[in-house]
Amino acid sequence: MEPLTDSWNREIRSVRVSVTDKCNFRCRYCMPAEGLEWLPRDEVLSFEEIARIVAVLARMGVDEVRLTGGEPLVRRDLPVLVGMLGATDGVRDLSLTTNGVLLDRLAGPLVEAGLTRINVSLDSLSHVRFAEITRRDALDRVLAGLAEAERYPELRPIKVNCVAIKGFTEEEVPALAELARRKPYVVRFIEFMPLDADEAWREDEVLTGGEIRALIEEHWPLEEIPAKASSTARRFRFADGAGEIGFVNPVSEPFCSSCDRIRLTADGQLRTCLFSRREWDLKRPLRDGATDDELAELIRFAVRHKELKHKINDAGFVRASRSMSQIGG
Ligand code: SAM
Repeated sequence: MEPLTDSWNREIRSVRVSVTDKCNFRCRYCMPAEGLEWLPRDEVLSFEEIARIVAVLARMGVDEVRLTGGEPLVRRDLPVLVGMLGATDGVRDLSLTTNGVLLDRLAGPLVEAGLTRINVSLDSLSHVRFAEITRRDALDRVLAGLAEAERYPELRPIKVNCVAIKGFTEEEVPALAELARRKPYVVRFIEFMPLDADEAWREDEVLTGGEIRALIEEHWPLEEIPAKASSTARRFRFADGAGEIGFVNPVSEPFCSSCDRIRLTADGQLRTCLFSRREWDLKRPLRDGATDDELAELIRFAVRHKELKHKINDAGFVRASRSMSQIGG
């Protein structure tokens, strides 16, 4: 099949698949403390439906699949889906983003099913501050999950993602940098984006990658290392060779011009940008018996409408139509 290309000549190679909108954390930058309604169960795509869409995408050259949510590990039997997607022709790279709280039990089954890369979210190494940001007292379980993941050399790299919020994260930076030096984890700082359900994001709460880099370099000099053109992160190694740090800077250094991603929500909506206001329904046609070619045509049509860029920094920025946990980060 023809590659999947948008109107600005960007080739789509990567899909983030949300397997559930449910989450067992309530991170302040993502979800409200309570009150977000879950999707009705029959609105959520089955494993077979997800695998069908991924197979169609893979035929168009989308060879990278990342499972996310909500919290993907709360979806029952997730390793079964990993096995199905790993066996799909054309899927070269299969990874997972998780809060890590169920990873101590699931790392083994996931690796056995064919998972090869993992990102674990971790915003603080202090019990009190971890509970403050996630609204759950679960730091020890996340660290146990990471330790369990580390036992499987097939699962590399292990990336640790921290959302960087001004007034909160500065204090975490030395300990997280030290974690990257001490453990085989690539620690990455992600700028806070206006995707929080509480709609409390303000521009002056974004702690930029540049600011964090300066904080780290007060202790340990960094050297930039090449990243793939489509990479969301700028990569650095410690000059003394002790580990790797990454910065994902969507606000201060947008990387839309090299974006090769689309997203599939848990309820089968295709999104062409995190900040999309519009979604493209694949579930209905799928359930109404569309052929693979018909699905491919719908996907091509949606991708032709992929946004040129996000407009976070523009006057009159309008938030996305859903918040992060409902989209799939
Ligand atoms: N529950 C999983 C987890 O915690 O990694 C997967 C879903 S979570 C929505 C995916 C990623 O989005 C996490 O790394 C999370 O920290 C990040 N995220 C959520 N809200 C964000 C925001 N407002 N700005 C930047 N990153 C955000």
